[in-house]
Amino acid sequence: MLAGDELVGLDPGLPAASVRLLLPRSDGTLEVPTWNGNEFLRADGSRPAIRTLTPLRADTERGELTLEIVRHDEGPLSDWVTDARAGDPVAVSGTGRGFEIDPTVTDYVLAGDESAIPAISTLLEALPSTATIRVVVEVAAPDGRVELPTHPGASVQWVDLPAGAAPGDAMSTAVRSVDLGADTVIWAAGEAAGVQRIRTHLFEERDVPRGRAHVRGYWKHGRAGAGGA
Ligand SMILES: Cc1cc2nc3c(=O)[nH]c(=O)nc-3n(C[C@H](O)[C@H](O)[C@H](O)COP(=O)(O)OP(=O)(O)OC[C@H]3O[C@@H](n4cnc5c(N)ncnc54)[C@H](O)[C@@H]3O)c2cc1C
Repeated sequence: MLAGDELVGLDPGLPAASVRLLLPRSDGTLEVPTWNGNEFLRADGSRPAIRTLTPLRADTERGELTLEIVRHDEGPLSDWVTDARAGDPVAVSGTGRGFEIDPTVTDYVLAGDESAIPAISTLLEALPSTATIRVVVEVAAPDGRVELPTHPGASVQWVDLPAGAAPGDAMSTAVRSVDLGADTVIWAAGEAAGVQRIRTHLFEERDVPRGRAHVRGYWKHGRAGAGGA
């Protein structure tokens, strides 16, 4: 959880919205970079690590923001969250666009990997209690199976990514066997190439109308800080 007077009044936005986290240097100091028209740079010309996350919960009066961060092999964000201690500085900007709920939609498929679990959680909390929601979550490690918010119409399928498989493979296989009605809305997020396979499947093999599928790349296998595709 992040806390600070600066977070008082922060708008957590719509479900599955995003914030950007500016990480401190490895010596723990935080310098707010400036925009040079192309990218954010520190005064010495170095590029800070800025990563995108989902606001899971925000207490706008107390100035608290809860995030859930995947720890993986290497990466500034993963390393930072492993070592972070209470009182360490970090900066937040946001809030970025989220998912606009259409109250007339009654059937959803939500699919994602561990990085999308916070977004799926916010969607489960926000979607109407009368909706039917099929959730597919791909995990690369057993401890990725975290508790999700309960929703009366939700069924959750956890799928394991086999060792050596491409990220997104297990969830795209699962999505392929999900029945889709004419009105089903699909939301999917995870590794960019993996969700691209889902996008192609939905649009080219199942003729899902563009407006009914919301598919976002949250990170790129083998590339730093490359979410948001
Ligand atoms: C809108 C949006 C919302 C997001 N919300 C969340 C969130 O709530 N929680 C969250 O944890 N992530 C979330 N992400 C994804 C997160 O921004 C990226 O995973 C981020 O790149 C991780 O930064 P890093 O410094 O740890 O690794 P990077 O420096 O970006 O990458 C280093 C290496 O780690 C690999 N890598 C990066 N992310 C992962 C991962 N998730 N699993 C396995 N390997 C990875 C890369 O492929 C690369 O090889 C979100 C992304 C977007 C666009």
